Amino acid sequence: MNKIEHIGIAVKDLDESCRLYEKLLGTAAYKRESVISEGVDTAFFLTGENKIELLSAAAEDSAIASFIAKRGEGIHHIAFDVDDIYAEMIRLKNEGFVLLSEEPKFGADNKLICFVHPKGTKGVLVELCQEIK
Ligand code: ZN
Repeated sequence: MNKIEHIGIAVKDLDESCRLYEKLLGTAAYKRESVISEGVDTAFFLTGENKIELLSAAAEDSAIASFIAKRGEGIHHIAFDVDDIYAEMIRLKNEGFVLLSEEPKFGADNKLICFVHPKGTKGVLVELCQEIK
């Protein structure tokens, strides 16, 4: 894995949270994007080299909605940039980690993504992401 690509934060209200994070970070979101397959609306902020992704539920049955219902708003996942997501998925599987999908999915911000189950990572939902070139 190369570096932390972004930190995902689950929020209830994306518009209100965007205004808050604009104030906090002193910069506007550079991208808003809905990922229909995941049932989420996202907004991305860039601070120096670091990215923050805000996620809100686009549907009541989305994973973000149940996360917020259970744990409230807050840090949802840490995403790591990888060069070859397929190779990394095989490596992690062989190490005994549980992946949440068998194949990479299309995520926000032009990425192929796969999540690693938080039960095997001390409670942290880990996202692998590979930029689509
Ligand atoms: Zn993410």
